[in-house]
Formats: sequence, C-alpha cells, structure tokens
Amino acid sequence: MNVEQKQLSFLPRSPILPLTPDVAERIAAGEVIERPASVVKELLENALDAGAHEVRVEIRGGGLRLIRVIDDGYGIPEDELERACARHSTSKISAVEDLARLHTLGFRGEALASIAAVSELTLVSRAIETETLGEEHAAAWVTLRGGEVTQRGHRARLHGTTVTVRDLFYNVPARLKFMRGARTEAGHIVQLLQRYATGYPAVRFNLALEEHIALQTAGSGDVASTLAELYHLPLAELLTPVVIDAPSQHPFALHGYIGNRALAQNSRQHITLFINGRWVQSRPLQDALEAGYRSLLPKGKHPLLVFHIDLPAEEVDVNVHPTKTEVKLVQEARVAAVLTQAVRAVLERSPALPEAVQFPGPALVYQRRLPGSRRRGLRVTESASEYAGETSSPGAAEVLSTLRPLAQLQQAVILAEAPDGSLYLIDQHRAHERVIYEHLRRLHASGQHDEATDAHLLLEPVIIELKRHEAELFEQRLPILRGLGLECERFGGRNFLVRSVPGGDGQEQVAAHLHELAQLASEDSVDWEDHLLIGLACRSALRRGRDLGLDEQRSLLTVLANTTAPAVCPHGSPILLHYSRAFLVDKFDW
Ligand code: ADP
Ligand code: MG
Repeated sequence: MNVEQKQLSFLPRSPILPLTPDVAERIAAGEVIERPASVVKELLENALDAGAHEVRVEIRGGGLRLIRVIDDGYGIPEDELERACARHSTSKISAVEDLARLHTLGFRGEALASIAAVSELTLVSRAIETETLGEEHAAAWVTLRGGEVTQRGHRARLHGTTVTVRDLFYNVPARLKFMRGARTEAGHIVQLLQRYATGYPAVRFNLALEEHIALQTAGSGDVASTLAELYHLPLAELLTPVVIDAPSQHPFALHGYIGNRALAQNSRQHITLFINGRWVQSRPLQDALEAGYRSLLPKGKHPLLVFHIDLPAEEVDVNVHPTKTEVKLVQEARVAAVLTQAVRAVLERSPALPEAVQFPGPALVYQRRLPGSRRRGLRVTESASEYAGETSSPGAAEVLSTLRPLAQLQQAVILAEAPDGSLYLIDQHRAHERVIYEHLRRLHASGQHDEATDAHLLLEPVIIELKRHEAELFEQRLPILRGLGLECERFGGRNFLVRSVPGGDGQEQVAAHLHELAQLASEDSVDWEDHLLIGLACRSALRRGRDLGLDEQRSLLTVLANTTAPAVCPHGSPILLHYSRAFLVDKFDW
C-alpha cells in the first residue's frame, strides 16, 4: 500500500470515540510503554496511520528527557485533542468486527493515554481540513502531566501533529531504575527507526539524537536506496528483489529484498519482516527465511532481508500481544513454506554469486566495517567494488564457462584467465564439493538411485558402532542412506555393517570416514539430511594436494558452472577469488 493510497483510504477519518466496554475488553491488555523506544514506536505508528509523508524524531537523554515526533499527517481536530489522550479512545475501530479487518497499525486507543500517564506530554495538532479555512484556525495544543491536563492553547502550524514527551517515567521510579544508559536506549530507538524507514521507504524519516542527525532517508520509495541511506553502503548490488503477486495458489502477496552472502550478519537483527505494513517478530517466519539460505551462509551468520507480506486482514490476528509486534497467522505454515521457497528460488537463480565476482578482491576472507557505517553499522565482507571496473560483472556461472585454466597453484588452486584479462582463483576442493553436494541433493530429492553407477560395494564391509540414541535414528534412516549409495544394515546391538559407499574418486575417503558420516546420519535435527549430504560431499571431493592436468581443471570448471551456487561451497566458504583487470592496472600502475 503506498502512502497516497493509505492517506486516501483514511480521508475522511473517523472521529475519535471511546470504545464501548465490550470492545475494550476484547483488546489484548498489558503494558506497552516499557522504555523510551516503546514511546517512539507508538508515536511513529500514529504518524504513519495518519498518512504522514515525513516523520521527524528528536531524542534527548536517551528519550528520558525528551522525545518529539513531528508528522505531516492528517492531524486531529481541536475538539478531539483531549479525547485522543483518553484511555480506550480511538478513531481506528469502533466494533469488535473491526479487529478482523484492520488497516491501521494502531487500534487499542491506549498509547497516548499510557504515555501521558507517565510523563509530561504535549500534543499539538492541526487537522488537514482546517488548512483551507485560513490562519485564524491555527493548531491547538494540550499538555498533560501524569495524565492530567495542565495547559492548553493555540499556535501556528501547518497540518500534522507534534507530540512532545518530557520526563518519561518521572512518576514511576521503579521503571527508571531499570533503564539502561542513554546510549543503550538511543540505540534501541535508532534500530526502531531503521526498521520503519525500511518498511516505509516512501516516507521521509529523520532522527536527531542530542541534536545530531543519526538517520535520514529521502522517502524515495525504493527499499534498496533507503537501505543505502541507512547503512551508508552501496547495497543495491548486494540485494536481489523478490516479488510474488498473490497468485491463486496462496492468498498473499510478497515482496522484498534478499541480501547476498556478503551481507551476512552476526545477529538476526537485520531480518526485517512486515506483515500488512506492521513490523513483526516471528520466530517461525524468521526460521523459514533463514532456511531458504540453507548452506549458503557460514554457521552463526544471519542474512539481511526485508520482506513485506500482504495478507487479507482476516488472515492476521494482531490482537495477541499489547505491543502488536507478534501476530498470529491463520496459515502460518503455508506462509513459512512460501518464504523458504521464495528465498531459495532467488538464491538459486542468481546464486549468491555476485559477491564472488563483484565483491571478491584479495581480502574476501576477512570482514571489516566500511568507513561511514556507524556504530550500529552492517558488517560487509571486504568490498573490492572499486576494482570491479565500470561494467557490472556477470554471474559466476557465466564467467566460469568462459575461463581458460592456466595452471594449478600448490596443487590446490586453479588459476584461470577470463576473456577480459582478469584472473580467477578457484579452490579445487570446494569447487568439487559444491558439484558433488548438488549431485547428491538431486539424487536424494528424486529418491531414485542408480546403484550400478552410484554405489561402490566395499570389498570388506566396515563395522561402525553408534551410541544407543544414534542407533535408533540411524536404523530408521537406512532406506534413505541406501538411496545415497550407503548400504548399511544392523549388525546386532549398536553396531552396523556398511556394505557400500557412493562410488567415484572419493570412495576411499568416504570409507575412511564412515563413523563420522554415520554420526551425521543419526543427528537428532531437522537438518540432518543436509548435514549428511555436505559431509559426504566434503569427504568425496578432490583433496587439496591432488595434481590436476589442464583437461581435468577445465572439466571441473565446466561442471562447477552448471551448479546453482558456484561461488560458495556447501559450508558457505568462497570458492572463487577474482582479481579484476582494473585491480591489476591499479596495483601495477600500468
Ligand atoms: P490508537 O492509535 O490505537 O488509536 P492512540 O492512543 O495511539 O490510539 O491514539 C489515539 C487517537 O489519536 C488515534 O486513534 C488517532 O485518531 C489520534 N492520533 C494520535 N496520534 C495521531 C497523529 N500523529 N496524527 C493524527 N491522529 C493521531
Ligand atoms: Mg496509536
């Protein structure tokens, strides 16, 4: 929903009225104002509900001294100002049924009242409809302290609303005791604004902390450029847009951006999810998004993602938690499956390659903060975009098929020249690992196994011994293992006989690591199959230290080019390094 539509859909707005007791009773009760950031969140949501195009936030003393939110939304008529600050008074719903067709972020009618009860709150507003009536219809204001009106008056102002909150928690010493330092509280507020700015790219946001601008967006409407403004990074190259229009199979639309691997973060903080315009936290949906990355991120790393899901209002229950950041979806499992699939499809189509090509450079291995990224900046793998030349680089798959191998370095790395004269380094073990992993995955997915070519009967079966709980799981999984070329059978107690291993160059390696692989195959985790496939691929792949002729190098590059993610091994480490021509020109000063 764009801002224009949103504003239109609220004009004319409904009057603010007290909720009838039966409606009020149905609303999830509880504390909403826990810290300064909760005040900012409620005020931001009010501004967005009022169709604001621009929202300015000022913070002093971590928000305990002052929070001010200024918007250019539709405003509040003078005779409704005080009612806006009364408990259970709202213009957004009037009947219980409205909860099932919510199109606003707010609906509880409690935020201003709760804030006013624990601070000194001044609400200045001018309704948009008075603007044509001339200057004498100025904005009206009212100040409440501890919930009681202390002053009121008029002043000049264009349409919109300004809420100023001073001395937050002055009358709740217990709350104040729990406040962290101003820095921490300000940090939460910055994070909150980053989220809303990402979710509402068409709105101009400005945040001033202690009179310094901490964050500013242009309201361009474009998520990628908004992210670039927020994080001071040329993120557009690292993001892939995803759009799924509500197709007939599932009743929801999805759009967003998927960050590539170079944007791997240490926390889940940058997985941003909006459902019907509301920023929500949902463990199952976050898990579903991360599952889409499967093995493309190193362990412990999390992606940067921005997703908007738009569902019919009746499919979402927002009224489960007072802070409204948790929602219940009627079809959560289906939504989760579509999210995983959407991420996976994008990563497999444009297989996380760009980072290997556009952001490789000599120092792919370490991470640093880019200059200009602030304290809460993103981590980005070393950027070699300065060497990437003017033209945007093609995907790794295309590049690989054009490479001419030159030599092998340390019997581990293939050196190859691209038609544009740049140099690629390819880790032979990881390249082969990727190839085998994808082969095994296909085999596993198809459930078909051609024993003649894919299993190698061991001359002497190998006995492995597992722990009791492992043995149970392992036994259940024997048919699946057979499909992968691992023919095993129970041999009394916790012992198993392994009769065959997947055929190929790596069969000896696999045979030598059967115990380790059996442990992967008996992991008590939903990811055990993937872990086993990765383990098998790793053990079967060409070792470093293996001599490769030019023909073998060429065929490895060819099969790698046909994989879905030729830039990263299944463990998530880089396969390719790229030294562009521009890099050589620069470093040799040609
Ligand atoms: P809710 O948002 O749940 O309705 P609030 O206590 O946050 O409850 O606000 C009460 C009412 O005051 C809102 O329903 C809305 O009509 C009005 N209001 C609050 N903030 C603004 C704003 N920034 N612009 C216009 N109207 C506002
Ligand atoms: Mg509100």
